Order: sequence, then structure tokens, then C-alpha cells
Amino acid sequence: MVARTGEQYLSGLKDHRSVWVNGQRVTDVSSHPGFKGSLAGMAGYFDWQHVEQDECLIENETGDLVNVSHLIPRSREDLALRHKGLRALARYSVGMLGRTPDYVNVTFAGFAGQPSLWRAAGNEEGHDNLIAFQKEIAAKDLSLTHTIVHPIVDKRIPDYEGVNQQLALRKVGETKDSIIVNGARILATLGPFADELAVYPAHPVPEDQPEIALAFSVPMNAEGLKVLCRDHYTVDRNVFDAPFSSRFDEQDAFIIFDNVEIPKSRVFCDSNPAVFNTVMRRGWTGNIMQQTVIRALTKLEFAYDLASRMADVTGQNQRSDTTQMLGELWSFAELTRSALKAAEDGAFDYGDGTWICDERPFIALRPTMPGWMVRTNDILKLIGSHNLLATPAEADFEDETLKPLLAHYLRGADDANAKDRARLFRTAWDMAGSALGGRVELYERFYLASAARNYSLAHMMAQRTQDWQNVPDFWAATDKITEKYQLGR
Ligand SMILES: Cc1cc2nc3c(=O)[nH]c(=O)nc-3n(C[C@H](O)[C@H](O)[C@H](O)COP(=O)(O)OP(=O)(O)OC[C@H]3O[C@@H](n4cnc5c(N)ncnc54)[C@H](O)[C@@H]3O)c2cc1C
Repeated sequence: MVARTGEQYLSGLKDHRSVWVNGQRVTDVSSHPGFKGSLAGMAGYFDWQHVEQDECLIENETGDLVNVSHLIPRSREDLALRHKGLRALARYSVGMLGRTPDYVNVTFAGFAGQPSLWRAAGNEEGHDNLIAFQKEIAAKDLSLTHTIVHPIVDKRIPDYEGVNQQLALRKVGETKDSIIVNGARILATLGPFADELAVYPAHPVPEDQPEIALAFSVPMNAEGLKVLCRDHYTVDRNVFDAPFSSRFDEQDAFIIFDNVEIPKSRVFCDSNPAVFNTVMRRGWTGNIMQQTVIRALTKLEFAYDLASRMADVTGQNQRSDTTQMLGELWSFAELTRSALKAAEDGAFDYGDGTWICDERPFIALRPTMPGWMVRTNDILKLIGSHNLLATPAEADFEDETLKPLLAHYLRGADDANAKDRARLFRTAWDMAGSALGGRVELYERFYLASAARNYSLAHMMAQRTQDWQNVPDFWAATDKITEKYQLGR
């Protein structure tokens, strides 16, 4: 058994990493009181893979049980196996945790499954390191964050020019066993709570700036690696009062590489734009989006059930405005399920014997999903209304004076129990309205880059892969048929 438990995960964090939160440098995140809830949530994820072991764990080639997200799919059946496992993992937080370690695990399984892309253009060593690293992540059950986006000071200027260029993460030196890098990256979700930070290609880089064409992984405690946390949104409450904010703040961080030494054994692309600019072109979307869409589906189905229960308990379930919104929510979930099925049904061997989903349904979902997620939160608020705030805490229900009053005044329709009712609305508020809920909404909007950019990419892809002749075809075919009727003469 190599899949770790929560306790094993927590003990791995005591490594003197350099994390800043609220002006304070934290060297032992595992004992920082502000992180207690988040770490309980993350430790719970590692325990969950054992509780749901039939779905979450698989045997590797040495017979050890590893997380299913390390599987390199070699067939349609493998993709189905991974689907089941990722679904079970997403159920743990009903998709409110976007960056559980399976996200980066799936990414690296996809990379390792495309060796011909990484072995190209003189990158044999980088390729070998990548293959070995993917096995190491699985064998040690490491938790990875990733940071692939270059910070931009001024969006009027191209990414790698002028003031923007000065921020770029770049190679600045080399020793016998390491390369030295400097620069910054946005963002690293899970940054302070991960074991390693992976850097890999996102947007293409200019050919004449090879020093920024880098892919590597580095332990979070590397000298010079600075992790700047945003405000932490965990609330020190029990899970009844704050089911998400008490334990699922996965914490985003801005990352500064201040002359960080990256061991050469962890470098997968060293100043090689030819590799950097091609590895993401084939298979990345179809691979990673199986994980992200399964998570999104889990969340949308949860939101639909939550909203339906809120409508029941307030007696709004026959009102047409409410049923329309419930139907809208169900439709989001069903369209997501259908797109996922289409992508999986259309899977094929992308090369190197690795099976990857058809990316087209995912390319369409990628910019569309953020709008659905925002609307989902909107619907939870519209159906919830003031009820979202008329929610006594669990402790209130234990107070002898309050208990009978709450049972009377805050019961639900059809005599629904007041405490159950409060829990329902607390869950909805924590999902859609709390500080953490607001952060998760921002995550949904941007974690795969902005919708605007992704719609543009969808259009570019559509133009590249198909010769669109619908308009001239219509003119040519239909005009001819109706010619003899001399329309408009
Ligand atoms: C809560 C949250 C968590 C996040 N977690 C992570 C994380 O863990 N790891 C991570 O790497 N990122 C993470 N992100 C960052 C996310 O990737 C960026 O916020 C996202 O890319 C949106 O950036 P933007 O607003 O600049 O939008 P965009 O305009 O989409 O720009 C994104 C990048 O793409 C470039 N770009 C824009 N248009 C084009 C184009 N036409 N062609 C090529 N490039 C283009 C931009 O210059 C920029 O570098 C997270 C974001 C949020 C909000």
C-alpha cells in the first residue's frame, strides 16, 4: 500500500517551507492555527481514498495500491475505470475542492502517456526525468500544486515584452546538478499544502527567449521559493455551521522564485521552446478535462439536489419561477453529463498507445461552464432568499431556551425539522455566498483561463479543424431548387 493516509500526508508538511500569510512567515504550516481546518480537509481527502478504496485505488505494476489518477489510460476501459475513481474522489468535497491532488496527477499521467511529444527536439533527458517523476509521484503519493500562468503587469503589452517580460520565470544559471530560476507565477492553488510545485507549459513562448521555456517540479521547501497566500477563508466553526468554509479552503498563493535551484533530475524541459510550445497541443485538454468535468458534474448535481430541497422546505416547489430555475440547474448538470459521455465515447489512441477523450465537447464546455457555475450560485441565492441568513448555529439548537422557539418559528413546510432546515440553508450559503463561496466562484470563472480567451480558442480550433461551407452550400443548393419560381421578380 503506497497510497497515504491523512496522518502521513500531514507529517510530510513539516519541512520548513517558506509560506507568508497575513504578514507572517510560517515555516510549519501543519501547526499554524489558521490552517487547521484546511489541513483537516486535505487530510480527509487522503483518508477518503482508503474509505472508498474500491474505486479510488488501483494496483500499479508492482502490486501496490496507488491513487487511480496516476493511471495512464491504455484503453476505453481504463478511461471508464478512471472516471469511476475520479467521481468517487470528487464526491468527497462535492467538487468544492478544485485542486485535490488528482488534478495534477491526471496531468502528469497524460504527459507520461505522450512520450513522443516530450522526447522530441533533443529533450531526451527531460523526457526521462518526466517519466521517472510521474512514477515517483504515484509511488510516494505526493501532493502537487502547479503554476503555469505568467503574471502580467500591463495587458496592453504582449506577455513577454517590456515590463511584462521582466517578471517571467526564467533560467538564470546552472550548476552541475541543478538549474537556477528566477521570476514569478500566478497562482498556485493548494500552494502551502502541497509537497511539490510543478511548472509546465501553458501559452506558447517566443522562440528567441529559450530561457523561459521551462518545465520542472520542485519541493515546496526549496530555498528561495516564496509562497504568498491570499487571505485565508477558513472559519473556525463546526461542519454543521460551515460545511465548506470549516475545512475546504484550498488556499491560493502567488509564487516568487528567488534564485531557486531546481535539481536537474526534476527538469522536464530546459530552455527548449520547440518542446515547450508543442507538448500542450496534443491531448492536454482531452486528458485533464475528464477530471475537471467530473468534478464540475458532481458539484452541479449536488447544487440541483440542494436547491430542490430548499424549494421543498420553503413550499416553493410548485411555483413556476422556482421550477424554472430548478429545471435550469438540472439542465446544466445534464448537459455536462452528456458532454462528458460524448467526450469519453469519442476517445481514441492519441499516439503512444494512450487513450484520451475527444476534446471537442470539452473545448465547448471550458468557456461555457464558468457562466453555469455563476448562475448556479445565483439560483441558490434566489431560491434561498432571506432564508439563507435565518439559520441558527448548531449551538443554538442545543440551548434549552431557544430549542422550542426555533422548533416552532424556524420549522419548514410540511413540518420539516428546524435544525435540518437550518443545515440546508447553511450549506447553500457556504457554497454560494460565504467568503469561501465567493472565492470558489472566482476559481470556476478563471481556473482554466478566462471564458473570453477560451471562446476565442474554441473559434480558432473550429476554423482549423473544419472547412466551413454551410453558407455557400445553402446559397448554392436551395437557391437552385427555388429558381424556377422566380421569387422577388
Ligand atoms: C481562484 C483561482 C485559482 C487559480 N489557481 C491556479 C493554479 O493553481 N495554477 C495556475 O497556473 N493558475 C491558477 N489560476 C490562474 C488562472 O490560470 C488565471 O487567473 C487565468 O489564466 C486568468 O488570467 P487572466 O485574468 O489574466 O485571463 P486571460 O486573459 O485568460 O489570460 C490568461 C493568460 O493567457 C494569456 N492570454 C490571453 N489571451 C491570449 C491569447 N489569445 N493567446 C495566448 N495567450 C493569451 C494572458 O496574457 C495570460 O498570460 C487560478 C485563478 C483563480 C482565480
